[in-house]
Amino acid sequence: MRALDAVVIGAGLTGLTLAFYLRKQGKKVLLVEKSSRTGGTIRSFHENGYTFESGPNTGSLANPEIIELFDELKDRCTLQLPRKEAYRRLILKNGKLHALPSGIISGITTPIISVKDKFNILLEPFRKKGDDPDESIAALTLRRLGKSYLTYCVDPFISGIYAGDPNRLTTRYALPKLYALEANHGSFIRGAIAKAKQPKTEREKKVTNAVFSVEGGLSRLTQALTNAIGEENILLNNRSTVISGSAPNWNLRLSGMEVSTPTIISTVGSYALPELFPFAAESLMNRINNLRYAPIVQVAVGIHALRGKAFQAFGALFPSAEKRNALGILYPSACFENRCPENKALLSVFLGGIRKPEMIDLSDQAIEQLVCDELRTVYRKPDLNPELMRIFRHTHAIPQYEQNSGDRLAAISEFENAYPGIILAGNIRDGISMAQRVKQATDISFFLPD
Ligand SMILES: Cc1cc2nc3c(=O)[nH]c(=O)nc-3n(C[C@H](O)[C@H](O)[C@H](O)COP(=O)(O)OP(=O)(O)OC[C@H]3O[C@@H](n4cnc5c(N)ncnc54)[C@H](O)[C@@H]3O)c2cc1C
Repeated sequence: MRALDAVVIGAGLTGLTLAFYLRKQGKKVLLVEKSSRTGGTIRSFHENGYTFESGPNTGSLANPEIIELFDELKDRCTLQLPRKEAYRRLILKNGKLHALPSGIISGITTPIISVKDKFNILLEPFRKKGDDPDESIAALTLRRLGKSYLTYCVDPFISGIYAGDPNRLTTRYALPKLYALEANHGSFIRGAIAKAKQPKTEREKKVTNAVFSVEGGLSRLTQALTNAIGEENILLNNRSTVISGSAPNWNLRLSGMEVSTPTIISTVGSYALPELFPFAAESLMNRINNLRYAPIVQVAVGIHALRGKAFQAFGALFPSAEKRNALGILYPSACFENRCPENKALLSVFLGGIRKPEMIDLSDQAIEQLVCDELRTVYRKPDLNPELMRIFRHTHAIPQYEQNSGDRLAAISEFENAYPGIILAGNIRDGISMAQRVKQATDISFFLPD
C-alpha cells in the first residue's frame, strides 16, 4: 500500500492543475484517470495543415490564476494571444450578420438593439434593485435592460458560453459577477463604474480578459502539465476505483495498485460521482447529481477563405429567435496564427445545447449536411463546400447552473463534512470556464492542510 498525501481523480484541466501545484509543494500525489489520455475535454488535432480543437477553442485571461499558470509553464508551452480580429464579434439578426457594438458610437447606431432599449439603457442606473436572489438571467435582463438586449445580446451570449437557456440559468450561480453588480451597487452601470474606480492590486492588474489559446493547440497546455507532474504520478486507464476506510486514512483500490491517503479530490462530473462514492447516502447524492448538462456537437470545418471580412472576427452567434440549427460558429483561424493552410479558413460550428439536445443523436451524415446548409445560408454561398469536417460529440459538455444550484452546493458541503478529507471539485461548482477551473484547482492546492 503506497502512502500518498493526496489522490486527485480526473485528469482534465482541473485535476492536472491541482496535481501540478501539489507536486510543486513537494506533496506525494497520484492523479487517477479513467481514459487513456490526460486533458479531459481539452484535445487538439492536427490534420492537412489545420490545427483544430474538439473541446474548448479559446479561454479568457479572466483571473490571475490562469495567467500565473502560464507563467509557471512558460518553458513548456507558449500562451497564444489573439489577432485584433478576435475583438470583432458577430450576431445574426434577421438573417444578416452584424458586429456587436464595441463603443458608444456603435452602441448608438447598432441595428441589434431597438431604439426604445437604447433610450432605456440611460435609465438603468435609476431602476429599482431586484429582490429575487434566484432570478433567471432572462428575467434580470428584461427587468434592467429590455427585450432586444435579451434577444440579441444575452441569449446568444449564454448560448456561446453555456449552450444554455437564459430562462433556466440562475444569475447568482451562472453569472455571479453580473449578479454582484446589481446586488452590491444597485445597477450594472453604477457597479461597473465603481469597479473601474476601485484600486487594483499588482496581481489584479495582470487580468486582461483577453482570449487565449496555446501555440499548437490547447493540448499543449495539458501536455505541459502532464510532463511537469511526471508520468510516474499519473495512473491512466484506471477502470475501477474502490474507496474504503475513513478519515484520515482513506484507502483506494485502483487498477493494479492500492494506495492510502488523507485527501481525495474528485474533479469528475456529477454523473460519475455515485459510482465513485457508493457509500454516500442516495438522498444526498441525488441532490448533487441532479445537475443538468448541455450536450454539444462541435464540428471543425476547413474551407476556402471567403473574400472580404466574412470570417474576420472571433465568430458569429445565432440568437434562438433566429431559429437556426447551429448555436454559432467560431473562426479560430481569424483569431490565432497557424490554424490552417494559406487562403483557407478554419471554422468551428456548434450544434445542440440545452435547447436542441437531440442533435447529439444525429448521424455523422446528417450533421455534415446540416452544417453545410447552415454555412451556405448564413454566408449566402450556395456552392460552399468544406474540404475538411470532423465531428465531436460531448454528451456532458457544459453543466447548467440552474435554480437547484444552491441546494447542490449545500449538499456538497454536507458530503464534505460527512467524509472529511474528500473534496468534491470540478465544474459541478465554481464555474465552467478554463480560467475558473484553474482558479478552483489553484485555491484548493494552496488551502489544503499540510
Ligand atoms: C465543446 C466544449 C466547448 C467549450 N468551450 C470553452 C471555451 O470556449 N472556453 C472555456 O473557458 N471553456 C470551454 N469549455 C469548458 C472547458 O472545456 C472545461 O471547463 C474544462 O476543460 C473542464 O475541465 P475539468 O478538468 O474540470 O473536466 P474534464 O475536462 O471533463 O475532465 C474530467 C476528467 O475526469 C475523468 N473521469 C471521469 N470519471 C472518472 C473516474 N471515475 N475516474 C477517473 N477519471 C474519471 C474524465 O475522463 C476526464 O478526463 C468547453 C467545453 C466543451 C465540452
